[in-house]
Amino acid sequence: MASNITLTMIKPDAVAAGHSGKIIDMIIQAGFRVQAMKLTRLSTEKAQEFYAVHSARPFFGDLVKFMTEGPIIAAVLEKENAVEDFRKLIGATNPANAEEGTIRKAFATDIERNAVHGSDSNENAAIEASFHFAGVERF
Ligand code: ATP
Ligand code: MG
Repeated sequence: MASNITLTMIKPDAVAAGHSGKIIDMIIQAGFRVQAMKLTRLSTEKAQEFYAVHSARPFFGDLVKFMTEGPIIAAVLEKENAVEDFRKLIGATNPANAEEGTIRKAFATDIERNAVHGSDSNENAAIEASFHFAGVERF
């Protein structure tokens, strides 16, 4: 089934580098509508919870450290087929494999410091949207 929302985070690397405005512009230009957005910072506990699916992976500790090093911008984005279309817009996890025109191709540094998150399923989009936002914060 096509989804209509996805959850993104502009990660600490991209926020610190001043790329947030350009990334948000690419998202809007690609046809996504912002339902909710905020500048926030993940605690260690919240980052561990968000990426719990990767807790057994060798990079988990570094990932949590990276995701907590500074503020992020979290947003709920609405569009027909949102999850799949947003994954296409952000590009491959490793920017070395990301296509021209994608956000990671333009702004990611490496496979860890890859500028943006995008939900990987409709189910996770709903869980991740609730992780970051209360119902009254979504429009
Ligand atoms: P995200 O979930 O952040 O949108 P993704 O779905 O493209 O990214 P995942 O496999 O879910 O990729 O990995 C989550 C995050 O963990 C990656 O975005 C990256 O920051 C980090 N990561 C993934 N693989 C590696 C790796 N081999 N080495 C270091 N960091 C990694
Ligand atoms: Mg993922």
